[in-house]
Amino acid sequence: MECPYPTYEDVMNECRAIAAQAPGIAAYQEIGRSAQGRSIPLLTVTDPAIPDERKSVLLVSGGTDGNEEVGRAVALGLARTLLEPQHRVHLQRQVVLVVPVTNPDGTAGNLPDKQGNGAVPATQVHLPGQPPATAEGRALRELVEAWIPDAHFDFHGLAGGGMGDSAYLYPTVNHKWSIPTLYEVAREMSFAGAKAGYPQDGQLRLWMEPRHNLPGWLARNHGCFCMVLEGTENYYPIEDSVRAGLARLLRVMEIGEEVRFFQHHANYPCDVVSGGRMAALMPFGEDYTARRRSRRAISQMILEGVPWFGRTPVDRGWTATIAFPVEESVKTLPEGMVFQATLDRRAQINAVRWHGRELERAQWQSWPTQAGIVVRAQVPEAPRRGMNELKIAYEVPFRRHVEPQ
Ligand SMILES: [Zn+2]
Repeated sequence: MECPYPTYEDVMNECRAIAAQAPGIAAYQEIGRSAQGRSIPLLTVTDPAIPDERKSVLLVSGGTDGNEEVGRAVALGLARTLLEPQHRVHLQRQVVLVVPVTNPDGTAGNLPDKQGNGAVPATQVHLPGQPPATAEGRALRELVEAWIPDAHFDFHGLAGGGMGDSAYLYPTVNHKWSIPTLYEVAREMSFAGAKAGYPQDGQLRLWMEPRHNLPGWLARNHGCFCMVLEGTENYYPIEDSVRAGLARLLRVMEIGEEVRFFQHHANYPCDVVSGGRMAALMPFGEDYTARRRSRRAISQMILEGVPWFGRTPVDRGWTATIAFPVEESVKTLPEGMVFQATLDRRAQINAVRWHGRELERAQWQSWPTQAGIVVRAQVPEAPRRGMNELKIAYEVPFRRHVEPQ
């Protein structure tokens, strides 16, 4: 019986057709070869009139599990959909990298999971401190090292017809990444799916154990915002499975172009490397490229030896303190960092100090929000080994009931 989903050959033909349809916007290339010598295709879709350093970078992949066919269909569908004129705005703000088949041999054989001649499961390809375990993994690693995506969505499928449009499985990050934000984004995606007529939601699951697949590696090493999604297979006709996935992906692309409450620049929630509203650590830099490098440096520093980051639970002497230790083992120090904290909405900010030295007035901003006064401080220097402290001194027009101990 004929497979209703695109076969490996269909995917290759469709990639070339998409690039031919929109020269200059969609570019096709081979990024490497599988263990059995099959081509791994990449479509780069973006508006060349806007420089790439002013865009965020999104990686969408499919075909990691060769028998989860909806993944490759959704990835291809996204590339084609983005060529429609109403989606041009996304291409002005983002570089979209589409790898519809990360595992060509598995896809050609309709086999689950394993790559590298069927020997290596996807979760064992990107082990820490080791080169990628497979040819497929090496090609993908080279691609992401060149671009450092801000967000990565690896589209799978519930093979065998399980129901649940786009269950969201999050790769673990080993620094405290804003879990509430992940849930917020997942909920937005669910609404978008329901609005498009596909209300089936799978379960939301956080991976608490490290996964050594590509999204896990990107999240750990680059602070990339990653999700593994499961599309419904064989419950709808294929066209509907694809539409259900696209509705969610297009919504998350919009989210990636919004300035969220705790952010300063539009981007995926990866702009918060650690922390949340009460105290956030954010990348430093003028454009997306600089901030991506900064995010990577901060993420690496955290991995190398920053056991915690946060705001002290009590503001003593009307001073909010954000602190983090940098251990001797740390080799990577970022050139700068941005800190953000929310204070009582009646607070008057007097000064911001880094290691006791007052920052220049141009180096911090504050603005009122419904939740409080947000203070954002740019520290244009590397943190030190040992304890690092940023202090925000303020006044409030009321007295405390008790002085904090
Ligand atoms: Zn899968």
